[in-house]
Amino acid sequence: DCALVWFRRDLRVQDQAALYHALRSARRVYCVFLLDRHILEALPRQDRRVLFILQALQSLDGQLKALRPGSGLIVRQGLAAQEIPRLAAELGAQAVFCNHDDEPAALARDAEVAQQLASFACAFKSYKDHVIFERSEVLTAKNRPYGVFTPYKNAWLRKVDEFYLRAYPVERHAQALATDAPSTPIPSLAEIGFEAVELSPQLGRGCEGAETLLDDFLDRIDRYDSTRDFPALKGPSYLSVHLRFGSISIRRLAREAWQRAQGGDRGAEVWLSELIWRDFYHQLMHHHPHAMTRAFRPEYEAIQWESGPAADTLFAAWCEGRTGYPLVDAAMLQLNQSGYMHNRLRMVAASFLVKDLGIDWRRGEAYFAEKLLDFDLAANNGGWQWASSSGCDAQPWFRIFNPVTQSEKFDPEGRFIKRYLPQLAGLPPKLIHAPWLAKPLALQACGLALGHDYPAPIVDHAEARARTLARYAVVKSRA
Ligand code: FAD
Repeated sequence: DCALVWFRRDLRVQDQAALYHALRSARRVYCVFLLDRHILEALPRQDRRVLFILQALQSLDGQLKALRPGSGLIVRQGLAAQEIPRLAAELGAQAVFCNHDDEPAALARDAEVAQQLASFACAFKSYKDHVIFERSEVLTAKNRPYGVFTPYKNAWLRKVDEFYLRAYPVERHAQALATDAPSTPIPSLAEIGFEAVELSPQLGRGCEGAETLLDDFLDRIDRYDSTRDFPALKGPSYLSVHLRFGSISIRRLAREAWQRAQGGDRGAEVWLSELIWRDFYHQLMHHHPHAMTRAFRPEYEAIQWESGPAADTLFAAWCEGRTGYPLVDAAMLQLNQSGYMHNRLRMVAASFLVKDLGIDWRRGEAYFAEKLLDFDLAANNGGWQWASSSGCDAQPWFRIFNPVTQSEKFDPEGRFIKRYLPQLAGLPPKLIHAPWLAKPLALQACGLALGHDYPAPIVDHAEARARTLARYAVVKSRA
C-alpha cells in the first residue's frame, strides 16, 4: 500500500494522471523528481531549461504541501536505473507510477528502471498524460498510422469528447499523500554545476506562471487566427515551455479550445489545430522513431549538403544572427536571447538554413534543441523535416521560402526586426527587409553602413534557390 510517483515532464499536481492513479491505489504515496545525470551532463553549463525546471520543482513542492500539509517533493540526483529503484526500496514502495514519455531514449531508460524494480517485485506503471491521443489511438480505417495531418486532425476531432478532456480529480484523494517524505531542499543551479542564467519573467514560473499566461491568452484566443503569423504582435499563447514540462495540463488547454471552437470561435478552432499538430508529431515519433535522426522519407538521405569550412562559416553566421537577412537574424537573436522563437520565424529560419545555405537540417535541429526552452524531440524534428521537405506531410521540396517576401508579409513595418536589430531602427519599411537593395546614399541618410553596422547578405537568394533545386533533383529522380 505504498507507491512512489516519479515526476518527469508533468510538473504539476492538478490533473496529473500518474499522481491520480497512485493516490487511488495506495495509502501512502511519495513523490520524487530525479535530476538525471545522463541528461544534465549532456547540457551546456548555461541552460535556461534547468532553471525553469528548478523553479517548477519549487512550485510543485508548494502544491504538494498545499494539497496535504507535511507532504512534499523528494529530489534526488543520479542515474534513473539506480536512484529510482533505490528510493522505491528505501520507502518500501510496491509500485512506481509515472507518465509515458515516448522519446526513444526515455523508453530505453524506463525499460531499464522497470527491470530493476522487477527484481524486488516492485511494479512499474505508466499512463498517458502528455497528449490527448497517443501511440495507436488514432488510426486510419485500415488501422494504419496517419502520415498526413488533415485526415489525422479530422479523425482526432471525430474521436474527441468530454471523456478524453476531463481532468483527473487529484484533490479528492490527497489524504493518501505521505506526510513523512524524506524531502531535501531543491538545489540551486550552482549546486548542480550550472552557471547563472536569466529567464524572461513573461514566461511565468511553474504552474502559477502557466495559469497567468493562459488567462492572458484566453482573453485574445478569438483573435489567434488573425494574429498568430505576425511576430510583432502578441498572437500565440507562449505556453509551449509549460506544455513541454507539464506545468499545465494538455487536457485543460484542449478543453478550453474545444469548447470555444464548438461555440463557433474561429481563433480557438485554429489554436486547437495547433494542439492537434502536437499530438500528430507525437504519434509519428511512436510509429517512426527512425525519423528522429534520419529523413522520414528515405530518398532524402541522398541529398548532398554543404560541408567543410565555408559551410561552417555560414552555419555560424546563421546561429549568431549575422546572415544579413534582417528577419532571419532577428529570429535567431530572439532564440539566443530568450530561448523562444515565434512559429512563423522557426519556419523562416529553418528554411533559410536548409534551402538558402544548403546545410543539413540536422545541424539546425541540434542548434534549436540546445537553445529552445520548449525543445521537444517530436515537434522539433517534425518542424525541421517539414522545412527540409524530407518529413511526413512536409512542404514540397520545390517550394522555397523567400526570406525577403516573408519579411514583407509577416513583419510589414519591420517592428519585430527593430526590436532585435536596433541598428536598423532608422530604416523605413521599404528598406528594412533587404537593406542591401537600397542606394548607399539612402542607407547613409538612415545612419547605416552596410558591412559595418549590419552585415551584407551572406548569400544571394536567387542563386541559392537555383542551387537548392539542383540539390533536390536527386530526390526527384529517386522518388
Ligand atoms: P501557440 O501558437 O500558442 O501554440 C500552442 C501549442 O501548440 C504550442 O505550445 C505547441 O505545444 C503546439 N504547437 C503549435 N504549433 C505546433 C507545431 N507546428 N508542431 C507541434 N506542436 C505545435 N514546438 C515545440 O513545442 N517544441 C519544439 O522543439 C519545436 N520546434 C520547432 C521547430 C521548427 C523548425 C518549427 C517550424 C516548429 C517547431 N515547433 C516546436 C512548433 C511551434 O513553432 C511551437 O510549438 C510554437 O511556436 C510554440 O509557441 P506557443 O506556445 O506560443 O505556440
